[in-house]
Amino acid sequence: VIRPPGAFLTLTAALLPVLLLPACQPAQPPARSAARPNVIVYLVDTLRADRLGCYGGPRPISPRLDAFSRESVLFENATAASAWTRPSVVSLLTGLNPLRHGVHERLDRLPAEIATLPGILHADGYQTAAFVSSAVITAQFGFDRGFDVFRQEVKEAIEATRPTSAWVNEQAFSWLARRDRDRPFFLYLHSLDPHMPYSPPEPYRKRFAPQADPAAGSVAHVVALRDGQLHPAPHEADDLLALYDTEIAANDEAFGRLLDQLRSVGLWDSTVIVFVSDHGEEFLDHGGWEHGASLYQELLHVPLIVKDARGRGAGRRIAETVRQVDVLPTVLDLLGKAAPQGIDGQSLLPLLSGSPQRSRSPAAFASLDLDGRRLDSVILGRWKLVRTISHDRLPVGEELYDVAADPLERTNRATTNRDPAALLAGLLQRAERDGGRATAPGQVPLDSELEKELRALGYGSRGGRPESERTPR
Ligand SMILES: [Zn+2]
Repeated sequence: VIRPPGAFLTLTAALLPVLLLPACQPAQPPARSAARPNVIVYLVDTLRADRLGCYGGPRPISPRLDAFSRESVLFENATAASAWTRPSVVSLLTGLNPLRHGVHERLDRLPAEIATLPGILHADGYQTAAFVSSAVITAQFGFDRGFDVFRQEVKEAIEATRPTSAWVNEQAFSWLARRDRDRPFFLYLHSLDPHMPYSPPEPYRKRFAPQADPAAGSVAHVVALRDGQLHPAPHEADDLLALYDTEIAANDEAFGRLLDQLRSVGLWDSTVIVFVSDHGEEFLDHGGWEHGASLYQELLHVPLIVKDARGRGAGRRIAETVRQVDVLPTVLDLLGKAAPQGIDGQSLLPLLSGSPQRSRSPAAFASLDLDGRRLDSVILGRWKLVRTISHDRLPVGEELYDVAADPLERTNRATTNRDPAALLAGLLQRAERDGGRATAPGQVPLDSELEKELRALGYGSRGGRPESERTPR
């Protein structure tokens, strides 16, 4: 990730074949190989790691995931590439940091020239399917590329009284039953339960959030809080967190049912399972709500749990900082395949297999460039630097945190620890110069239907007014 000066041209040349990799050719199944594992990437949108039992969370909302983690490898310090869905999912599927893939804004498309995990596996003869319940990861934005089957049920999933994870399961079970059993598969499952609205179904709500007013979890209410049009009630953060936790509990049960199904149809021992989130959520941790406006750890610290088909590393917990961009090379490594040259991620297989820890973790970059806010961050070892370039809430400038000693990021050490601040600022500068928006993502035209779907998720312009007309707060 840290490149010597002058390496950019060489790197770009090395990357060209990768970028030009054919995306999705008609299936040409290679010779059958019984040994090739299946792969499931299960992403729970908006799931901050610290709520989960296996990450030290305070409530018993994740028994199925906790049990799964004991049969898998749990990465204690996994870092998101951004604080909202699309750039993070692009990083997950491409192994590139946002500064490289260039997908930042609400209408940016997945660039057609970047190789993706489903595209690579499809070209290798895998059956590929995706079942997605987010309005921002859709075919319209190019996310169907590389998938034989890509289904999105955004409105149905959001408006239904059942959790989106139940819809994801129905789709997955049905597809698994009718798939071609002679070929391995790649399945991308994207559940939206903890994303607002925080509207947990019964009986979960009575159990985990009996005190909270269910109406407080509506998109309209949370957006009004987020945009400063409503002042929070004294227990607002606790109530919303309880509703949020409850949605995690519903999602946990659905994830457990998926695992049961895989076992009952005999796929458990032949399937790699990656459990991950795209970003976390704010509950006034640093004065804000929801996500997409800052890069603090409540947004960047995500769960990452990997079950190898062969059970390598089962039960291991790894403290080293790892990243969403590491998922693509790790999955390919688990399948015995090389990753594309020039990506930002590195295979975690050595860590997973118990090799001695790397002498120094690679830097973990994150970027947010949305609705007039521009922030970049980098974590290296114990230090994290956040550089705010433009924002309507945070002061523009640099913040440095010792995330080992101060994981809640309470004390800005930018002026007291100048050496790490300068080192990390240099890393950010270099990443920005070398990345330089290597691709031109192109944008999707905003029609009224799309705007409605995005607003239902709270992705309309904040405050409903252009950035220039808003009062800084
Ligand atoms: Zn998201």
